[in-house]
Amino acid sequence: MFPSRRSFLALTGGAAATAAIYGFSAAPAWAEPRFPRNPFTLGVASGDPAPDGVVLWTRLAPEPQAADGLGGMPPYQVQVVWQVATDPDFRAVVKAGTETAAPELAHSVHVEVAGLNPSSDYWFRFRVGSEESPAGHTRTAPAPGSDPGKITFGLASCQSWAGGRYAAYRTMAQEDLDLVVHVGDYTYEGRNHETLADFRNNHAKYKSSPDLQAAHARFPFVVTFDDHEVENNWAGGVSQPDNEASNEPQRFLQLRANAFQAYYEHLPLRRPQRPTGPDMVLYRALDYGSLAKFHVLDTRQYRSDQLTENFPGGPQHPDVYDPSRTLMGDAQEQWLFNGLSSSTARWNVIAQQTMMAQYDYDPTETLSVNHDQWDGYVVSRNRLTNFINQQNPANPVILSGDWHAAFVNDVLLDHSDPASKVVTTEFVGTSISSGCGWAQAIKDGLPANPHTRYINPDKRGWTRCTVTADEFRSDYIIVPSAADTTSPAAVDASFVVRNGRPGAVRV
Ligand code: FE
Ligand code: CA
Repeated sequence: MFPSRRSFLALTGGAAATAAIYGFSAAPAWAEPRFPRNPFTLGVASGDPAPDGVVLWTRLAPEPQAADGLGGMPPYQVQVVWQVATDPDFRAVVKAGTETAAPELAHSVHVEVAGLNPSSDYWFRFRVGSEESPAGHTRTAPAPGSDPGKITFGLASCQSWAGGRYAAYRTMAQEDLDLVVHVGDYTYEGRNHETLADFRNNHAKYKSSPDLQAAHARFPFVVTFDDHEVENNWAGGVSQPDNEASNEPQRFLQLRANAFQAYYEHLPLRRPQRPTGPDMVLYRALDYGSLAKFHVLDTRQYRSDQLTENFPGGPQHPDVYDPSRTLMGDAQEQWLFNGLSSSTARWNVIAQQTMMAQYDYDPTETLSVNHDQWDGYVVSRNRLTNFINQQNPANPVILSGDWHAAFVNDVLLDHSDPASKVVTTEFVGTSISSGCGWAQAIKDGLPANPHTRYINPDKRGWTRCTVTADEFRSDYIIVPSAADTTSPAAVDASFVVRNGRPGAVRV
């Protein structure tokens, strides 16, 4: 018997093919979905641009804080229609299809669109039943090996919930950026967060911000997590020892699995990043033609446990030189070295979480450092700085977050020798909104850190990075008040790294 035309289309459409390949949903289909209100309450997003496509994201959640974590959706799989156009009015739709939104993934949708043109602007939107999403804008990466002349991107991190408004994102959304790189603390865990529903509803709360939604609707994001998407200062399979909810190893791994799944469900990530239980491959590289290669790291999931919890710093633990310790894990470290060796890009941007350069909090003889950052893993830092020094990859630049304070650092080959050469440059972005209660300690330590060219621990904001063949420029953008939507943006300081000359120069 021949299938009717209607069921034939359903069987051969993109959604049916997806379900067959990935086979993740056991839920029955909801053929004619109806909603009490528009289910696109969390906005839309795009991410991980390639020369020929991006991943498009949304999640159906008519009641985003529903106690079961399912956003007010019934336990059915639903077909979501998507469209990509070359104009904001969708007169010229160039790609369209359907994707399954399933309860197993909280009715999130991740559409990997291919067949688009490089370095091009696109607009996208979703439809389910009679409900339509807001439109998003995105931009593909340059053609392989081509020189785009210039790329501009935003660096963001640490967006502690500030009641829904983010002045930093509001100012960012007014710019024309090729992408946004987010290096972690996208959400902050609650004290008792443990279940999948806990983590889903926390993401849904953050995603309710109109300013965060506006930034996602305007630019593709490239994201990696730090600690607070899971738990403060987690390290590999080890929870913070003082967290009663998770200090049993198996219980922490389940918490980590829940946190990873909710993270994946709420961000525009590709299928290789979909977690399997407590494991998630988040490190990956993105090429922007011959101009830049982004090496995106995960320095949480594979790290050795912290040696001490002294805060913001404490006397350097002798085991920071123990060669068995690692910040990236052996596989990721080798992947990074291979990626740097084989890169043909002018700039090698290493986007990662915690501050890499040494920072001494004690202006006297004693060295006082933070052991959650690369200072607690000096052996790992030295492997990387020695690799850069010996293999000479083109223009490595380090991007960091985590510390809720802006820094510009010259990273030395060996920070135990202040006369050691500069091998790379680090731009630490300030937080979008998270406070810096240790600002005075940072200021007090500054005289002990001559390789640190700039600090600003007092202001929130984001960093605008502009990359050309000649220089990598970082503009440190601050807002007077993190949650005041009338706050105008101001550039507090600008630094460049010149082609072939590691080290920051103030402009
Ligand atoms: Fe943070
Ligand atoms: Ca952090």
